[in-house]
Amino acid sequence: MDIRIDRGSSVPLYLQISGGIKALILSGKVPDGFRLPPERKLAQALGVNRTTILNAYRELKSDGLVDARVGRGTEVVPRSPAPEAAAAMGPFPWRQMVREGAAREPDPLVRDLLALTERRDVIGLSVGLPAPELIPLAALGKIQQALMDEKGAEALLHSPTEGITPLRETLCRHMLPRGIRAVPEEILVTSGSQQGLDLFIRTFLAPDDVVVVEEPSYFGALECFRAARVRLVGVPTDGHGMRTDVLEAVLARQRPRLIYTLPTFQNPSGLVMGSDRRRRLLELAHRHQVPVLEDDPYSDLRYEGDPLPSLKALDGAGHVIHLSSFSKVLFPGLRLGWMVAPKSVVRRLALVKQMVDLHSNTHGQWVLQRFLEEGHFAAHLERVRKGYAARLAAMAEALEAEAPADFQWTRPQGGFYVWCRYPEAVSPALLMAKAAEERVAFLPGGASFVEDPGANHLRLNFTYAPEDLIREGVRRLMRALAAARRERGSAPRAVVGTPPIV
Ligand code: PMP
Repeated sequence: MDIRIDRGSSVPLYLQISGGIKALILSGKVPDGFRLPPERKLAQALGVNRTTILNAYRELKSDGLVDARVGRGTEVVPRSPAPEAAAAMGPFPWRQMVREGAAREPDPLVRDLLALTERRDVIGLSVGLPAPELIPLAALGKIQQALMDEKGAEALLHSPTEGITPLRETLCRHMLPRGIRAVPEEILVTSGSQQGLDLFIRTFLAPDDVVVVEEPSYFGALECFRAARVRLVGVPTDGHGMRTDVLEAVLARQRPRLIYTLPTFQNPSGLVMGSDRRRRLLELAHRHQVPVLEDDPYSDLRYEGDPLPSLKALDGAGHVIHLSSFSKVLFPGLRLGWMVAPKSVVRRLALVKQMVDLHSNTHGQWVLQRFLEEGHFAAHLERVRKGYAARLAAMAEALEAEAPADFQWTRPQGGFYVWCRYPEAVSPALLMAKAAEERVAFLPGGASFVEDPGANHLRLNFTYAPEDLIREGVRRLMRALAAARRERGSAPRAVVGTPPIV
């Protein structure tokens, strides 16, 4: 047993020793039933008095960690002795308990490969994360301190389900550049925009309802829709976004309950829906009386070109519900997003939200409210726009230099992603396996389609890794592509863990 004692410390030796043994037991380094060394032996080994060890063992005994029996010495007590019968039945069958529908497991191959991003030696171009270096830590730190000083515990208690009023007011001002004019009662603060999606689905959709999505679309939304067992109908996109001619035909044939769209710097394609398309989509939605869910976490992140009004800004009839988030533009651990919807919808969804999580993180809402209100956001936005534009340029240069002629990619004007297409002859599974060997991670495109058409797409994120790693990551990816072309066969499975696909 490796136990360290510090004779200079003010902690009595017997407590240091019992503490050391306790740590070994709790970490499992010392197994159940392990017999501790006889007192005299341990006293000798540590150069302390026998009474010190006696006291240390007494301490452990009073914690219920060891037991001493005549003739057997002092033994580690098994953690939770299982009754014989339960032990014979084996572990409880949780898998069988899972309700149908909730049991749908996401694509394990994609998840396994994404777990690669957690490895330090892997260059992560797969996950949609902001640059950790660009998180405004200093400003946030000051705000947190000021909040603690001024508000004390108030900022740590419960808060209204709809969100704290000052944040709802601030968000109204925050959205003016998007062309959205809302009043606080039209805003629901959510725990990330993912929650907005979930609340919408819980409230408005039932199994077998038809939902129209553009293809490709955000994987995390497709997963939510599938879990709700709605029928997804994919409408293809071209360079201007969702094809409204196809949408029109779909609306004529089916009666969808929802059109879900990401008009600005789409995830995964980076596409922007053009102005005419936006107007046409709304016209069709109005005519067919179908609500539109506009998912817009990226529109602030424009690096070139002029902004377009959001669908919500163009919507005169209250057909559009607008979802947004601070996950991309600030950082995702905050878990704060918001929804803009007619007041009656906000009231209704707040009742559902109450059942899900009572309210979003109170402290985070205050921090965010001050960050916006004190005017830090504009400077931050300028900094991240510059940083991400440079990272995008690095990725474009690297692709230009390294990619073979039949590898195509988009050059987005903003957002987080470059969308690529590679030759059909290369199997996506094999390419992922080769990329894992090369220690680079990307998001395979199949996950973004309603039915995986095997159209050999992949999504590269350019905001998370710094420029030198982006260049190296692209080099590795191209080596993987070349290797996959040389070789055919099945892909090996990788690693464990379930990082979210974002
Ligand atoms: N919508 C889209 C389009 C996204 O890309 C993401 C994150 N990748 C989300 C919603 C969810 O983001 P969050 O819940 O962190 O706000």
